Order: sequence, then C-alpha cells, then structure tokens
Amino acid sequence: MNILTQDIKYLQGVGPQRATLLANELNIKTVGDLLTYYPYKYVDRSRIYKIRDIDANMAYVQLCGQIYSFESMGEGRNKRLIAHFVDGTGSLDLVWFQGIKYAAKNYDCRKTYIVFGKPTVFNGHLQIAHPEIELAPDHLKVEVQTMGNLFEKEPQNPNLQEKAIEAQPTVFKGLCPSYNTSEKMKKSGLTSAGMAKLTANMFKLLKEPLTETLPLYITAQHHLMSYDEAIRNIHYPTSPEALRHAQLRLKFEELFYVQLNILRYVKDRQLHYKGIVFSTVGQHFNDFFYHHLPFQLTEAQKRVIREIRADMKSGRQMNRLLQGDVGSGKTLVALMVALIAIDNGCQACIMAPTEILAEQHLDTLREFLGDMPIRVDLLTGTVKGKRRTEVFKGLVTGDIHILVGTHAVIEDNVLFHQLGLVVIDEQHRFGVAQRAKLWMKNHVPPHVLVMTATPIPRTLAMTLYGDLDVSVIDELPPGRKPIRTIHMFDAHRQRIYELMNRELQLGRQIYIVYPLIKETEKMDLKDLEAGFEEISKAFPSYKVSKVHGKMKPAEKDTEMQRFASHETHILVSTTVIEVGVNVPNASVMIIENAERFGLSQLHQLRGRVGRGADQSYCVLVTKYELSNTTRRRIQVMVDTTDGFEIAEQDLKLRGPGDLEGTQQSGMAFDLKIANLAQDGQILTLARDSAQAVITSDPDERNQQNDILWRRLRELRKTNVNWGAIS
Ligand code: ADP
Ligand code: MG
Repeated sequence: MNILTQDIKYLQGVGPQRATLLANELNIKTVGDLLTYYPYKYVDRSRIYKIRDIDANMAYVQLCGQIYSFESMGEGRNKRLIAHFVDGTGSLDLVWFQGIKYAAKNYDCRKTYIVFGKPTVFNGHLQIAHPEIELAPDHLKVEVQTMGNLFEKEPQNPNLQEKAIEAQPTVFKGLCPSYNTSEKMKKSGLTSAGMAKLTANMFKLLKEPLTETLPLYITAQHHLMSYDEAIRNIHYPTSPEALRHAQLRLKFEELFYVQLNILRYVKDRQLHYKGIVFSTVGQHFNDFFYHHLPFQLTEAQKRVIREIRADMKSGRQMNRLLQGDVGSGKTLVALMVALIAIDNGCQACIMAPTEILAEQHLDTLREFLGDMPIRVDLLTGTVKGKRRTEVFKGLVTGDIHILVGTHAVIEDNVLFHQLGLVVIDEQHRFGVAQRAKLWMKNHVPPHVLVMTATPIPRTLAMTLYGDLDVSVIDELPPGRKPIRTIHMFDAHRQRIYELMNRELQLGRQIYIVYPLIKETEKMDLKDLEAGFEEISKAFPSYKVSKVHGKMKPAEKDTEMQRFASHETHILVSTTVIEVGVNVPNASVMIIENAERFGLSQLHQLRGRVGRGADQSYCVLVTKYELSNTTRRRIQVMVDTTDGFEIAEQDLKLRGPGDLEGTQQSGMAFDLKIANLAQDGQILTLARDSAQAVITSDPDERNQQNDILWRRLRELRKTNVNWGAIS
C-alpha cells in the first residue's frame, strides 16, 4: 500500500473534520498532496536572540526567558492580555487580543519559555503580539537560570545560551517552514505551526526513500539533488545550502514536466495532423503587393511573412505566435497571409477580442483591398437575423473569402467551405483549448496565427504559448517619433491644459482616458462625466466627444467616427478605445488615474498616439501619494517605449499570476514552486532538457525514460489543465 495515496484523514493529527478543511481550503486530500504542499517561506530558528539586541525592524525572532507578570488591559474590543517578559538583558511585552483566556490559563509566571514572533513597537514599548510559545526543556531551563536572577541583572555568562542552543536541537530547529493557511483553518488549529506538525508526522511515516521522479542521467547532468532529499529538505532544510539545492531540484522538475507535456503535445500534433499545403503565392497576393500596398513593407514584416509562408507550405499545420509592438503593422501581415490562403483556394478567418476591434479590422481590410475581388465580411454577436443568415451562407458556399469576427466564429454552427487559415488577434483571451476548437472547422485543420501586441516575456511565452513557434516584428514603420511620456499629478491640471492647448492649436487631437473597473462602473462613469464637463468648459472653442461602455454600439460608433473624421477634437472615454481605433492625427494621450492601470494596458493606450509623423505625448496623471511599486511602474512607462522591456518589468513587479490572460490560460499557472518572473534560467534548462528527450527518444522506447512517461501520465491525471491540450 502506497502511503502517498492514503487519505489524509488517517494521518496523525488530522481526522475527519480537519480532512474536510484541508480538502476544501487547500485541495489536500492525500498524504501525497501534503507532501507537495510546500512552505512559502522559512524562519530562522537556529538562534536565540537577547531582548537587548532586537528591534522592531527585525523579522521573526526567538527569545528565551520568563514571564514576570500578567496584566489585563482595555475593555470590549480593545481588551487584551499583556505578559511582561524578561530574559536578563531587557524586557518586552507579549500581547494577546484573542485567546486571552487560553493564554492566561496556560502560561505561568517564572517558568522559562521559548517565545517566537515578530517584534513591533507600541507606545514606545517593544512587543510581540500572539507569539508562538513553548516551555523550554528542563536542562535549558537550568542553564538559563544559572545566568543569574533574570529579573534584576545581566547574565554572568552569556555564552551559556549558545551552548544550550547546541545542546538542544529539538527546540532550536534551524530553518522552520511556514505554510500558508486560511482563516478557517486557523480556527481549527491549522495554523502554520499546526501544518508543520502534520508534515512532521507525515515524515515519520515516510521512512523509505521516496521514489525518484527523474531519470538518473538527467539529475546527474544538471547536478540535481535526489527527489527524496529535495522533498525532505524543502519542508525541513538541514541547512540554507540544502534548501537552495532542494528548491533548484523541485523547480527544475516542475518546469521540466510542464515543458515535456507541451513538447510532446507538439510532437503528437505534428504526427497526427497534416497541414494544408499552400503551394503557390498567386494572383491575389501579387496583385495586392504590386498594386495596392500603400507603402513599403518594413524588413521585419517581410521576414515574418516569409516565416509564415514557409510554415504554410511545409505540409505541417502552422501554429505560430506573432509578436509585434503596438503599431508595428500586424494587421497588414494578417491580410497578406490571408491572401496566400485565398490564392490556394481557401478561406481565412480573423478573430478579434472585441466587436469594436473586429469592426475596425473589417474597415481596415476593405480599405487596403480597395477594388480587389475579395469579399470580406463580419460576424459578431450583434450581426443578427437576415445579415447573419447571409454570412452563414457565404461561408458555406465559399463566397466570403475573409471572415472577420469575435468569439462568435468559434461556435459550432459556423461552417466554412474550406477554412485554411485562422488569425487570432490579441491572443491573450484565447486558451489552448479554444484554439483547438478552431481546428474542427475543417477536415484538415487550418493554419493558426496568433498575434499579440502585448509582448510577452520570454519565460511566459515559453510556458503559455510553448506549443507555438514565434515570429517577432521588432521594427516600427519608418518616420515615427518615439512618444514622450510625462508623469503629472492631479494638482498640475494647469500644465496639462497648457500642453493640450498647444497641441490643439497645431491642429492635433487628444484622447483622455478614464479607468473602468466593473465593480464600480457607476462611479467610474461619474468620473468620466465630470471630466467631460470640465474639459468642455476649459476648452470652449473645441468640440469634445464622449464614449463609454454603457452607450449603445451605434452611438459609440458615431462618436468614434466623429473623432476619427476630425469633427471633434477631444475624445473623453473609458478604455473602450484600448484596442482598435487608429487616428493618426491624435498626438496626445492623457490617462487619468494611471495608477489604476496595468503596465501592458498603459502601453496599449499609449500606442493609440504616435501613429503620425508628429511628436506625440502620453501624460500619465496620478494622485500624489503612490505606493513604491506604483511609482516604479509609472517610471517604467516614462523610461521606455519598448513593449518587451515593459512586459518584463510588469512580470517582475506583479508576478505571472496577475498578468493579463494568464488566469484563463491555466496551463502553466498551477506552478507550485517555480516562479516565471525569477526562474527564467531554470526554465531554459528545463525546456532544453525536455526537448532533448523528445528528440532523442521520439518513439518513447528508451527504458531510461520510462520513469518520465509514467510521471507525466500521473501529472496529467492530477492536473486538469494539462489534459485540456490534447
Ligand atoms: P498593430 O501591429 O498594432 O496591429 P497596425 O497593423 O494597426 O499595428 O498598424 C499601425 C499603422 O501602421 C496602420 O495605420 C498601418 O496602416 C500602418 N502600417 C503598417 N505597416 C506599415 C508600413 N510598412 N509602413 C508604413 N505604415 C505601416
Ligand atoms: Mg492590431
């Protein structure tokens, strides 16, 4: 019987009630689940501090001494119990706001305790609130008492304490694990310390070494600790050095299996699905290229089109990610590769995340194509009734060459004559599973091009889109001046107005954007209305448009259109303009409450200006008091216009879990120990290592690798999202 699969309920110290808690709160159901519930930090309990040496800036400290007296203070909610604690070098207060009765009953004056907690200062007094506290063992007590009278003077021989530490490893535990737990768990005694008791009990059961989870040749190659040693040290490190090794081993392993899963999936996909072969670049492409292209392609655009072209004639299904900063000209690339599909008797479909963007794409494509005999049509949620039927018909007959749409196009009842290419713009709202759904639209799955203007840090791309090949447009069309970004405080309104006036007089247009947060939509709208009033008053000789999400689409469109055609000069809006609108004459982007936006969102918004040849400005308006992180985020925007740099910084400042799109994607974010913001190097090693396995053992015959495939199967069973990609 494998201990690891045993119900957690039977572990000493658990029982049915706590078992339910563990399952509900942490999804820990078996002993094995607890084994991989890693501490989130470690507290150094290898030394005992003297009260005179500690101050409120220190993290957790361990003290040894006695309670001199108790004191009850306050009434009602302010009620608290204070124990005056002394160790011969000074005194501090132990304070309880809760569990007062328990503390008063269980702790005694003049007994020697080991006390553990975070020192703070209150009313000029050092204190530790809700300390962990345990009776010092007997011989330590003797040692401490021989230091002399604790309550009056300095100890005679301070070295005694150090000796006691050495003599008493059961109390001075070295690096102690801290486990995250919930409020509910704490009420049932499952605090961090409570969890530590459970993991300690678990290790008492695990006498045999744990089964290794990586082949020996891989652990040897990367000088990794064994699984058994790593797991034991991750919970109870024998030294800081051992802890580092354990972390490395477990991070590597975690990332390795994520990559092995992805790369194996890629291999299978290539094995099972043939790609449609687009053998020619024909009449439409050439006609467009020679007669309709309004400008020269940038070198980057040309290179990317070549890469895509190579995929599409290879006989393999293309799955490619196209990264290119805002304004780098991805739409044109999408159009040109769609023309290749059409030249080869296929249809193309371009998907956008919002209706506005889909509509804009439709317009852009139609404008680019001019009088070419290519039918482009639109399918979104608002295309209804007769229009919808017409579109459906045109798709089945093949009369529609390019369909532009939103999520609506992946619905099962949307059928194509011969779908050969799917372009997904602003990918981050589409998960792997959704992409896979698109393949069913043809008997041979269409080529897939995923485009993003939110550059993704490499580590994230490798995990989130690890199944995709990557192309990058790393060059903007010529003649664009970098946008100047300025940070201003609310209070500097006058200076903002001066800048606006100057630009308006030059005939330019201005965006003003307000944040929109769903929970407080009403309030946000009020901000926007107030802003609109204020601006209208401050600029009486200019016309001001207003656009927000609560307006009817038609109304919204009209207002946008008025701004686009220069009928109005200032557009006050919520983030509905984030993606899409292209008004080259607009030269100023003012973002109100900029602190409330994510970096990539700010970058997107800023990308709305700087589309013409003139100097453009982005003004980030914030309140005066900002947290350090926010200040740094704003500074990043001021310092750079490089989307990749911004994405890297965003990942560092916020962590992968908060980045846009990562929640839906699932695949990579069940990470228990690796951190994509910090472990880029380990990730690269893991990816290369996984790739080497796939390449050297494509048929999975090498017995040394048996352990890998078995482990992968186990992980796929327990990791719901992993299964979703096959
Ligand atoms: P994004 O990559 O953000 O989707 P777009 O495709 O919207 O960028 O392109 C931004 C603007 O640049 C559009 O007005 C487009 O027509 C223009 N553009 C695209 N490619 C070029 C080019 N090679 N030279 C000049 N302008 C270009
Ligand atoms: Mg675009």
